[in-house]
This record gives sequence, structure tokens and C-alpha cells, in this order.
Amino acid sequence: MQFCPNCKVHVAGDKRCCPLCKGQLEGEGAPETEVFPQLSAPRKPERVAMAVITVVCIAVGVACAIINMLVSPQVWWCLFVVAGLVCAWLVTKVGLCYRKDVLQSIGWEIALISVLSILWDVGTGWRGWSLSFVFPCACLAGLTLMMILAFFMHLPPRAFAGPFGGLVLLGILGAVPAVMGLITEKRPALACSGICLVLLAGGLILFRHTFWPEARRRFHV
Ligand SMILES: [Zn+2]
Repeated sequence: MQFCPNCKVHVAGDKRCCPLCKGQLEGEGAPETEVFPQLSAPRKPERVAMAVITVVCIAVGVACAIINMLVSPQVWWCLFVVAGLVCAWLVTKVGLCYRKDVLQSIGWEIALISVLSILWDVGTGWRGWSLSFVFPCACLAGLTLMMILAFFMHLPPRAFAGPFGGLVLLGILGAVPAVMGLITEKRPALACSGICLVLLAGGLILFRHTFWPEARRRFHV
């Protein structure tokens, strides 16, 4: 059995240091005298899932690149497949990161999908479809989903306000490219922005008893 010369105590089991003073122990450890049950490392199924998805994405990307080179080397279509795989991977990763908070997950997914669609739009010759259609539709779909979930899950306004408020503000900003003339089809973005303004005003009036104390607490005013 191990012995701590500092504390003058015998220590059961096989310890690296004295559990009391963290000092060096004398003598040989005896694992069979251990009094505490062995803890197994917690399993992380999401890590395994992410690793599998990463490997599958890489395999599909490599396979497409090889097929592309062998069959039609004049057109690099595999770059689109790889970009699509990267997008799918990012969306899955964000979903897994925020899986414990479904509303935050929706908020981040909408923001990510918007950014990725803008990149696709820019990468394929800017036509503005990302800001004209994808962004407003994704915003409104996300807000609708959040409201449905908050209603059926009986979420308190405090849990709901952050992600919902963030997405509402993002939706209002959707009018900026329309006002600046960056997109030709302005109606969906302007409609989305208007709906978000109404939702913001409605939320501030309906939940004023929750919102203002919370805002004062957060911003120390
Ligand atoms: Zn000790």
C-alpha cells in the first residue's frame, strides 16, 4: 500500500499523488484495494457521428474528383460537389454544436445558410438570388419554426427572446441590400424586413415586463 510521509497516512488503490496534500507517495500501489468505482470516460456519440460524416464527405469529394478527371476533364463540375459537401458539413456541424438549444441552433443555421448562399451567389456570378429569395425565405421560415416550437414546448420568454430577437434583427437588415440597390427583385426582402419590424414591435409590447428588466440587467443600465 502507498504511504504519504507528509500526512502520515496509508493510501488505498494506485494513486499518482496523495489525495490530501498532492505530495509524492512512497511504496507500491495496490489497485485491488481501490475503494472508489472506476469511472468510464463518457461516450460522445456526436463526435463519432461527426467523424463518420467527415470521412463520408471526403470520400465522396475524392470519388467525384477522380470521376471528373477520368470522364470530363474539360469541365470542373466536381468543384461544385466539393463546395456543396463543405456546406452540408458546416450545416451538420453547427446543428450538432447547438443541438441542446434548438432555438439557438435554428438561429445559427439560418445565419450560416444565408452566408453560404451569398458565397454561392458570388461564386457563380452575382445574380442576387441569395439576398432576394434565400435570405428572406430562410429568415421567415426560421422565425415561424421558432414560434411554433416556443408555443408547443412552452418555452419561457427568457429562453426564447435571444435567438428570436437575433433573427428578427437579421431579417430587418435584409432590407439594406434592397435599399442600396444590390438586388433587382426587392419584394421578398422588403416584405421579410417589414414582417420582422412588426414582430419586433409586437414582441417588445407583449413581453415588455420580461424584456426591459432583462435588457437593463444585461447592459447594466
Ligand atoms: Zn499527503
